[in-house]
Amino acid sequence: MNTSEKLRLSHALDRMRSVCVTRLRSMRQRIDALSIGEVGDPVDLALDHISRGTEQMLLELEWRHLQSVSAAQRRLCAGEHGTCSACGRAIRRRRLAALPEASLCLSCAARREAQRNN
Ligand SMILES: [Zn+2]
Repeated sequence: MNTSEKLRLSHALDRMRSVCVTRLRSMRQRIDALSIGEVGDPVDLALDHISRGTEQMLLELEWRHLQSVSAAQRRLCAGEHGTCSACGRAIRRRRLAALPEASLCLSCAARREAQRNN
């Protein structure tokens, strides 16, 4: 990976990090705004619980995404980003352009996904 590719990737990761942080703040505010009372219409209470559960699940997914972006930034600083963490081969530029935080090449990512689904 040459210097301009590293710089482009670094900017992409910075933008992703910023978006993640903004989304996390917004989700946290929405969760905090959902006041779940003990009394009231049972249907409303059930819907509030469902909404809160959904928001918390989305928050968890966004948090994991932020962690993967942070890990990619650390790998980039260490000069290790762009190399598959499973097989050690270079991750293709097109994959990194589409998924700047990728730590696995397409083959290893597909293999891991297949294992996860079994
Ligand atoms: Zn690989």
